[in-house]
Amino acid sequence: MPYHSIVLVKQVPDTANVTAEAMKSDGTVNRAALPAIFNPEDLHALETALELRDRFGGTVTAVSMGPPKAADVLRSCLYRGANRAILLTDRRAAASDTLATSYILAQTVQAIGGADLVFAGRQAIDGDTAQVGPQCAEKLGIPQITYLEQLVDVRDRSVRVRRNTGSGWEIVEAPLPVLITVMETANRPRPEGARRVHRFKRARVEAEVAAEVKLALPDATDDEQAAETARRVEALRKQGLLIEQWDLDRIGADLDRCGLSGSPTKVFRIQAIVLTKEGYTEIPPTEEGIRRLVHELVLDHSIG
Ligand SMILES: Cc1cc2nc3c(=O)[nH]c(=O)nc-3n(C[C@H](O)[C@H](O)[C@H](O)COP(=O)(O)OP(=O)(O)OC[C@H]3O[C@@H](n4cnc5c(N)ncnc54)[C@H](O)[C@@H]3O)c2cc1C
Repeated sequence: MPYHSIVLVKQVPDTANVTAEAMKSDGTVNRAALPAIFNPEDLHALETALELRDRFGGTVTAVSMGPPKAADVLRSCLYRGANRAILLTDRRAAASDTLATSYILAQTVQAIGGADLVFAGRQAIDGDTAQVGPQCAEKLGIPQITYLEQLVDVRDRSVRVRRNTGSGWEIVEAPLPVLITVMETANRPRPEGARRVHRFKRARVEAEVAAEVKLALPDATDDEQAAETARRVEALRKQGLLIEQWDLDRIGADLDRCGLSGSPTKVFRIQAIVLTKEGYTEIPPTEEGIRRLVHELVLDHSIG
């Protein structure tokens, strides 16, 4: 039986390669100074969906919400074997917190027509909240299984998953449709396929085409640039190289639930933590060791 999957993939700043310019003077992240990468656990979510499709048939649709540059991760999904890619990009979605982000992604899943399985990474390495997957499931009104380590079986309309519990694992079962968040221990993501890279390297979203036209025809009028963009977009569509670009109207979003107005999170304070201590202290697993540790933590005001 074929299964249709949607995978939520996010482009993130590479927080593993932080340089001195990574933070702005106001304490916020300087995204322009960090290379943008495929959120690592989303690669494992994609791989889980691709393996499922390879085994049972069906389709894999990759969805990302972000600026036009996020089309990079969608191209990477196509290079790895995704059947379809959709970029939700809209200025009115800027400044969305996890509540608004998950609302927009859930609306997108619904606008696609739903799926048997929706996969997400467990966590994004920039926001780090691990809230978006579970919040999407809640808004879609479907069950969720978090922390997948192994997709044990899919049979008819149910799925069995081995999930990490932090101190071990458990096997859980859920009816389809279901949303599953995937851990990096789940599998080894396949590399981008050379043939598919060759085929999809010219795949673009409309906003990228418009930017390219602007560069190529700087002296053309707005109307001429728009006409050339429309011509190129149509040519890409015919070749199957147009990455779908959706906006908030396309998914019937309630604008009060998107962007800043849909984001109740208030950032109270941003604190730069500078680690001064070098090396590490080993605490023996004894009553005395714990007593000494607590004493030290009280002395430096970490607790108490
Ligand atoms: C007040 C406030 C303002 C913010 N403004 C901005 C802003 O202007 N621009 C900005 O980029 N961020 C902004 N953020 C950060 C934004 O809220 C988070 O990046 C976003 O909600 C995802 O949360 P997370 O990174 O913790 O993802 P997690 O919950 O850790 O992600 C889990 C999984 O959900 C999926 N997922 C998460 N986000 C996306 C996405 N965008 N597309 C597809 N799949 C996704 C992925 O599969 C990911 O692995 C803001 C946050 C706050 C609190």
